[in-house]
Amino acid sequence: MSAAEGGGADRPAQGAGDASASGAAGPADRAADELWMARALEKARLAAGREEVPVGAVLVGPDGLVAEAHNRTREAADPTAHAEMTVLREGALRLGDWRLLGHTLYVTLEPCAMCAGAIVLARVPRLVFGTRDPKAGMCGSLENLVRDERLNHRVEVVEGVLADEAAELLRGFFRERR
Ligand code: ZN
Repeated sequence: MSAAEGGGADRPAQGAGDASASGAAGPADRAADELWMARALEKARLAAGREEVPVGAVLVGPDGLVAEAHNRTREAADPTAHAEMTVLREGALRLGDWRLLGHTLYVTLEPCAMCAGAIVLARVPRLVFGTRDPKAGMCGSLENLVRDERLNHRVEVVEGVLADEAAELLRGFFRERR
């Protein structure tokens, strides 16, 4: 079993600091994806504790974590305060660049139309999500905005990472509220 930290071992050796120029989309192996998704799930659990729909997201770049957030539409009284929107905003601010080239966005639930649109606008090269959202998901369920050939940017999508945990968290949240 390969350690997550050995993720760079199979890549050709390049000068340090060259990562952003290579266009690499961040960690590309399953073990690393699961580690980052576990972190997004932690954020989702925090949301549940605050009576927010439990969705969490993290933005990861070549040098690691850039931003993390959970959904806070209720607390912020803001319909756009989805976890993905917050990490995209914070990530872009932190990097001083609206283009999030070389970054991977991890989110526990399939992004909605708004978030899928923002992911395309931010030129995020890679999206990893947990469970599908059959009622609002726009990355494969209802439509696939992030793969639409007519748009000027397409996103590599990996789905199903820790999907059971993400789905169970959502089910539990809505079960308690019925
Ligand atoms: Zn959304």
